[in-house]
Amino acid sequence: MTSTDAKLDNSNIVAHLGGILERRGGDSYLGEDVTMLEHMLQAAAQAEAEGADPALVAAALLHDIGHYTGEFPEELALEVNNHHDEGGAAVLAPFFPERVVAGVANHVSAKRYLCAVEPDYVAKLSAASVRTLELQGGPMSENEVAAFESAPDFEDAVRVRRWDEGAKIAGRPTPDFNHYALLLQKLVDAHAKDAETKG
Ligand code: FE
Repeated sequence: MTSTDAKLDNSNIVAHLGGILERRGGDSYLGEDVTMLEHMLQAAAQAEAEGADPALVAAALLHDIGHYTGEFPEELALEVNNHHDEGGAAVLAPFFPERVVAGVANHVSAKRYLCAVEPDYVAKLSAASVRTLELQGGPMSENEVAAFESAPDFEDAVRVRRWDEGAKIAGRPTPDFNHYALLLQKLVDAHAKDAETKG
């Protein structure tokens, strides 16, 4: 049995995420000086240090989980293109509150946004991030900028993006994944409870 055959539910999703990062987190982060796991933990640590809401700490921690959609049951990852922002949102959506999912979904758009509105932002991007910018559609157009700024989760998106960008520092110590396990589980439980009342 592969990991993708395992049935995921609210009781095992956090362990599943931890397992993915444990097994695969050593992958290099798109040619940066940090591994995927270091990158995701550094993003979460910055969110936590800023006193961000738990949903945003979770979004920071999981923003790149879309690079591992192959670790999720096919029906969750189905119909998702190769874009890791949408892929990550799709696999998290059944388990996490909308705010977490939106933070993950919007982190690439926020990069395209910042490249459009902050002249020196592109210069601050790492070489790998400049390379992917083109594939991601380049800086936003004026219309896209206006639409993005009026979206309700606009500010969250930009914050997650800045933590993402700041999470590429070789050797910076952070708490490990387990430090966030309870925070994640509380979000999963809150989402389940919410779905129950709505259902
Ligand atoms: Fe990232």
